[in-house]
Amino acid sequence: MVKKIFVGLLGVVLVITGVVLFNTFTFTSTQKTFTPRQVTKISESSLKHFQEAIHFQTISYGDSLKFDSAQFNAFHRYLRATYPLVHKTMSVQTVSGYSLIYKWEGKNPSLKPYILMAHQDVVPIEEASRQRWTVDPFAGIIKDNFIWGRGTADDKINLISIMEAAEKLIAENFQPGRTIYLAFGHDEEVGGKGATAMAHWFTGKNITAEMILDEGGVITKEKIPGVKKPVALIGTAEKGYLSLELSVEISGGHSSMPEKETSIDLLTKAITKLRANPFDAKLTGPMKGFMKSVGPEMSFTARMVFANPWLFKKMIYSTYEKSGGGNAMLHTTLVPTIIQAGIKDNVIPTVALATINLRLLPGDGSLEMIDRIKKIIGDERIKINPVGRISEASAVSSTDSFAFDQVDEAIKESYPDVVSSPFLMIGATDSRHLKEVSNNIFKFSPMFDPFGFHGIDERVSLESYQTSIFFFENLMRNTLQLKP
Ligand SMILES: [Zn+2]
Repeated sequence: MVKKIFVGLLGVVLVITGVVLFNTFTFTSTQKTFTPRQVTKISESSLKHFQEAIHFQTISYGDSLKFDSAQFNAFHRYLRATYPLVHKTMSVQTVSGYSLIYKWEGKNPSLKPYILMAHQDVVPIEEASRQRWTVDPFAGIIKDNFIWGRGTADDKINLISIMEAAEKLIAENFQPGRTIYLAFGHDEEVGGKGATAMAHWFTGKNITAEMILDEGGVITKEKIPGVKKPVALIGTAEKGYLSLELSVEISGGHSSMPEKETSIDLLTKAITKLRANPFDAKLTGPMKGFMKSVGPEMSFTARMVFANPWLFKKMIYSTYEKSGGGNAMLHTTLVPTIIQAGIKDNVIPTVALATINLRLLPGDGSLEMIDRIKKIIGDERIKINPVGRISEASAVSSTDSFAFDQVDEAIKESYPDVVSSPFLMIGATDSRHLKEVSNNIFKFSPMFDPFGFHGIDERVSLESYQTSIFFFENLMRNTLQLKP
């Protein structure tokens, strides 16, 4: 009997091992290959233009009264003076005051256009952190092979690279095969009213785009463990955004004789429950695509894990859940960000309030999540109300499209030996407002691991800037290729 069980178990183990190995050996590269082109080195003038663009303090403040229109007007004048051929060849529209839409007429007006997006605005420098900057954040300083300053990575590198590439191509008498729109929002960092107005501008003209490309994932040389090659992370969807106010009101009283429960007790209990019961991990389309694209490029053991998610799902989840960034790829996240109660040390407050911020995975709708939160808290006395804008997660753009292939091709022509992969954007971008304008919306910034995003010592490498200009040049040139 014992022998029979042993033989049976051995059989099962052998079958599992066989399947695991079979899956691993047949888990082969899905990468399309394109021949790298000879890179154009950055010219002195291109470099100077990027440095100068950093000088403009095109800051988006939370408080709209602080908006400094003079900075934006000066930036627009600067673009006109710096890119004369672009301004001679393209028509320019201003919408929502300061957002810019350029139209570069293509050879074949019957082809659907591309829309290349970037935003003009930058986040402020927190007063408390200003002296922790190594350089003046608006001086555009070059140091240690990096260009330093607020907005270098987010997002003037994209805006200036697009302009540099277009100016260069126009100087060569190049005309794109299809029309290219450049859409530069002015308030991405505070919600994107400009992008909403640009979306209306396009839909009002019945324009649907073959592709929209906006800021997003980067080419990372170090952030994906187990892969030696650089990985270009092309955002195919972005998470949604929802803030909720939890409030509780019960009679307070004197702190010398507290009742069993106070408003603060109830509120903190609710928050603790929410934090202790995270939403289930889910493999969304972009994450599955990531595993299929990056998995085969990994070392044997990692490849075995990614090739057999049916067996190693738990292991994959726990690896990603170790870091905040990895965890956010798998979960709708929730975190308290504001908490308010009490006015005096000897008074029990009647009202306690907390704001919690959620970032929604594609497929997790805001109403459904509010329902789940109510169930987890399980206390009718806690009232739950949405605050501010709710933005659902975006649709997922297909990687099985001409548009995705065009991005992939331009990346691989601009830098050798890159692996391209779909990816879920955790942060929000202006392109989410243009969902009516195209089904193919990709979020990708052709630069290598920047530093100081929204933080101190923001900077991008000179190599990033060179690759970025070259990427847009190749993408524009390739509009002469026809869709199969
Ligand atoms: Zn940005």
